[in-house]
Amino acid sequence: MSFSNLGLSKPILRAIKEQGYTKPTPIQKKAIPLILEKKDVLAGAQTGTGKTAGFTLPLLQHLTQLPNTKGKPQVKALILTPTRELAAQVGESINLYGKYLPYKSTVIFGGVGIKPQINSLKKGVDIVVATPGRLLDLIEQKAILLSNIEFLILDEADRMLDMGFIHDIKKILKLLPSKRQNLLFSATFSDDIKKLADKLLNRPTLIEVAQRNKTSEIVEQVVHPVDKERKRELLSHLINSEKWEQVLVFTRTKHGANRLSTQLEKDGITSAAIHGNKSQSARTKALANFKDGKIRVLVATDIAARGIDIDQLPHVVNYELPNVPEDYVHRIGRTGRAGNKGKAVSLVCIDEDALLKNIQKLIKSPIERVRIKGFIPDPAIKAEPIGNRSQSHRNRSRNRDSRRR
Ligand code: AMP
Repeated sequence: MSFSNLGLSKPILRAIKEQGYTKPTPIQKKAIPLILEKKDVLAGAQTGTGKTAGFTLPLLQHLTQLPNTKGKPQVKALILTPTRELAAQVGESINLYGKYLPYKSTVIFGGVGIKPQINSLKKGVDIVVATPGRLLDLIEQKAILLSNIEFLILDEADRMLDMGFIHDIKKILKLLPSKRQNLLFSATFSDDIKKLADKLLNRPTLIEVAQRNKTSEIVEQVVHPVDKERKRELLSHLINSEKWEQVLVFTRTKHGANRLSTQLEKDGITSAAIHGNKSQSARTKALANFKDGKIRVLVATDIAARGIDIDQLPHVVNYELPNVPEDYVHRIGRTGRAGNKGKAVSLVCIDEDALLKNIQKLIKSPIERVRIKGFIPDPAIKAEPIGNRSQSHRNRSRNRDSRRR
């Protein structure tokens, strides 16, 4: 099947062709026709499946079918995302796929000045991509009108709930016209997501590409048992001996990300850290350098990494396992993207055995353990409680309290 069978118009097909996509991914094959039929859709799809184009392409197609209104464009489509990075990425996709169409879009998120966002809304836009907190700020300031919304898309809805955005989402829903098309994308389906879907969606069609809570099959996963103190040494060894050129490394804390990045640099491995304490411009620069191959290793915390779009990322390393098992699925979703094989390596010390067990339970499969010569754990070392256990919880409550996203 090719894109031309999906009911998309010429300007959109031309933009797709320019991207070099030859055929739709499974989620695109399923989602695009349904969305074009104006169905509400509940989609289970992880990052890397092509989900963004899965909703952006039919959304653009819909806009071409709306009657032409005179004057300034009005906001007809609203896409909510959990993080600024994801919002920016969705915004880029809209620009890319909508290149040959006249529609205007804007991306709004917290942590940066609100004025330019107000100004771009003033000029009039058709599509708004937003994180919930900043959107509410703009609504309060009467900078945006939601009464003409025809399409609502919740992207990475599970993340939004994890980050405590449910109340913000409910507030926003109340302001939307009742007649509209709704799409909800989520990598996992907790009871809370089901509740939200029941409230939001009107007789939705359920589509799934990866099995729920299952890691993508094209990702090769391996655990290397190692003592905590020797993780950095092992990581440098793996990067050098396996000649990894582009590695995304996850740490549990911001401080840990900074420290690791500095240590890798000392080992002669180019690296940068991104996390919530870094400015938006520092994050954007680090990401651009990583994408261009100017730095080999990007060290990130879970929250900062959410929504990062990097094509065909070959290696993801869990320097520390996440406290929340679902985060493992999200992390390794960064590799093996759009049909390219990827490898997810976890460096696991004895303290993390319980975390590993929970992850294996969630993905319903054991992960192969491979001991590396020279790094075999010392049996005399006993497990200790993990420091910063509540890091991700702290982050979540911080997100709830502030509307900086
Ligand atoms: P997403 O799951 O939306 O984050 O997309 C993952 C990556 O797949 C993005 O970098 C897209 O550019 C790429 N992609 C999306 N659709 C296709 C396609 N049909 N063929 C090849 N690559 C694609």
